[in-house]
Amino acid sequence: MENYPLTLHTVYERSQSLFAKKEIVSRTSSGIHRYTYADFGRRTKQLASALQCLGVDQGDRVATFAWNHHYHLEAYFAIPCMGAVLHTVNIRLSVEHIVYILNHAEDRFLLIDEGLLPLFEKIKDQLKTIEGYIILTDKKELPDTTLHPVYLYENLLEEADPLYKFPADIHENAPAGMCYTSATTGNPKGVVYTHRGIYLHSFGIGLADSLGLAERDTVMPIVPMFHVNAWGLPFASVWFGSKQVLPGPMPTPEALLRLIADEKVTIAAGVPTVWTAALKAQESLQADLSSLRAVICGGSAAPRALIESYEQQLKVPFFHAYGMTETTPLVTVARLKSYQEDLPPDEQYEIRATQGLLVPGLDMKIVGPRGEVAWNGQEMGEIWLRGPWVATEYYKDPRTQESFQDGWLQTGDIAVIDAEGFVKLVDRAKDLVKSGGEWISSLDLENALMAHPNVFEACVIGVPHPKWEERPLAFVVLKDAALQAGDKNELLHFLGNKFAKWWVPDDVIILEEIPRSSVGKFLKRALREQYQTYFTG
Ligand code: ADP
Repeated sequence: MENYPLTLHTVYERSQSLFAKKEIVSRTSSGIHRYTYADFGRRTKQLASALQCLGVDQGDRVATFAWNHHYHLEAYFAIPCMGAVLHTVNIRLSVEHIVYILNHAEDRFLLIDEGLLPLFEKIKDQLKTIEGYIILTDKKELPDTTLHPVYLYENLLEEADPLYKFPADIHENAPAGMCYTSATTGNPKGVVYTHRGIYLHSFGIGLADSLGLAERDTVMPIVPMFHVNAWGLPFASVWFGSKQVLPGPMPTPEALLRLIADEKVTIAAGVPTVWTAALKAQESLQADLSSLRAVICGGSAAPRALIESYEQQLKVPFFHAYGMTETTPLVTVARLKSYQEDLPPDEQYEIRATQGLLVPGLDMKIVGPRGEVAWNGQEMGEIWLRGPWVATEYYKDPRTQESFQDGWLQTGDIAVIDAEGFVKLVDRAKDLVKSGGEWISSLDLENALMAHPNVFEACVIGVPHPKWEERPLAFVVLKDAALQAGDKNELLHFLGNKFAKWWVPDDVIILEEIPRSSVGKFLKRALREQYQTYFTG
C-alpha cells in the first residue's frame, strides 16, 4: 500500500472540500462571532502567508497565548501546515515558567489575545528569541502597548497573499505542535507532537467506542486550547466537519450552559471542576441541555457522584476519560461493554467511574514491584504506555530518562485493572498516602466524600505523621453552611462505613475553596506545604 504521509494537510483539505458551509462559533469579548469552514480555510492560508512574510520558516516555533476562539483555530492549522511548530502556551502558568518555556522553545513570534497583553509587557525584556507580537483582535488600531514590534492580526491577513499554498513536502514525522506540562518540581517539560501523532490521535477520538466524534456533532472544547490541544478536539472536528463552539475568554459556568443551549452543543469536554460548577449553576439557570449527547470529563478523576448527578438529574450522558500531555492526550474511556449493560445500575456506575478501557491503537501494561500486576482489581502498579500518539521524550530535557525507558512511557500514575480490563487510577505515585507501610488511595477517599449530600468538593493529602510516616488529611468545601465545622465527625463516620478503619483520614478541614493548579486541578502541593506539620506539631 501507499506510504501516504499522515499530515494535517489532509485534515485541513477535507474540511475545505466537503464542509465549506459548516459553522464555527466563537464567544469573544465583543460578542458571538460566527463564520464558516470556508472562511476559516481562507484565513488560515492568509495567516500562513503572513507568517511566511515575517520570515517564519519550516521547523520554527510560533507560540500562542490565547483562549479558545477562531483566531486560535486558524493558528492550529496555519502554523503546522506551513511546516512550523505551534507552541500553545498555558496562560495560567507562573510568570517564571512562561519566561522559561518561551526561551526554552526558542519561539520566534507570539500570537496573543489583546486582553492578555499586560503580562507580556512585564516579561518582554526576559524573552530572548521573540521577534514580534501578533495581536488577536478584530480592532483595526494598535492598542497602547510597550511591546515591540507588534502587528495587528487582521491587518496582516489583509496584506497576505490570497493565492498562498501550503508546502507539499512536510514529512509526517515533522513536529506540528508542542505543549509544556508542569513538573512536580523544577521547570515545565516540553512534549512535541508530530503530524502523524495528531493525525492518528484524531482517528482515535472519532471511534464510536472512544469519543465517537462525528460530522453531525456540535463540539465544544471547554478544556483550553492552551492545554494539550484542547484534548485534540479542534483537529478532529475540522477533519470530520463537526460544527465547533469555542467558548472564549474566561467562560463562566452560566456562559457555558447558555452556549450549550443556544448552539445545541452535542459534545462538551472539560475537567471535573468545570462540570461540578456547571451542575451548581444549572440549579438556578435551568438551561435547555437536551442537545447534549455526551459530556466528556477527564484531566482528573470524575467522582461517581458527579456522573450520577448528570445522568439522573440532568439526563445528560457523562463519560469519564483519562490521558496526559505526553499522550496527545487520550488513553482510556469508560464505556460499558455490551454485556455489562444488564448489570444492576450500582455496578454500572462503579465501572463507569473507573478511567475505563484502553482506546484502540495504544499498548499498556501496569507494572508493580514484581512485574505486571494481575487483572484482579486489587494489585497496584504504574501505568506504562506506548503507541503512535505517545511521546518518546521531553524536548531537550534530561528528565526524559526518568519517564521514558525501554520504549515505554512510565506515567507515574498508579492503577489497578479488573478482569475485564477496566483501569482504575488509584493515585499519582506522588499523591498516594503511605501509612504504616501500606498505600491509601487519596482518590478513593475523595470520591467517597464527594458522594456525601452536603459535600461540594473534597481533596485528600498525605501529611507526615510521627508514628505512621503519613496519615490522610481531608479538606472539604461544603454545599451550604448547614453542616458546621463541629459536624465533621459526621463525615468521618460516613467514611468509616465505607473503608477499613486505617483508611479513614485523621481529620477533616473545612475550607471555603480548594487551591487549584493552572488547569483547574486540585493543587495538592500547596495544601501539603501548608499542612506539613499538622500531625507533628
Ligand atoms: P490532562 O490534564 O489533559 O490530562 P496533564 O498532562 O496536565 O494532562 O495531566 C495528566 C495527569 O492528570 C495524568 O497523568 C493523571 O495523573 C491525571 N489525570 C488525567 N485524567 C485523569 C482521570 N480521568 N482521572 C484521574 N486522573 C487523571
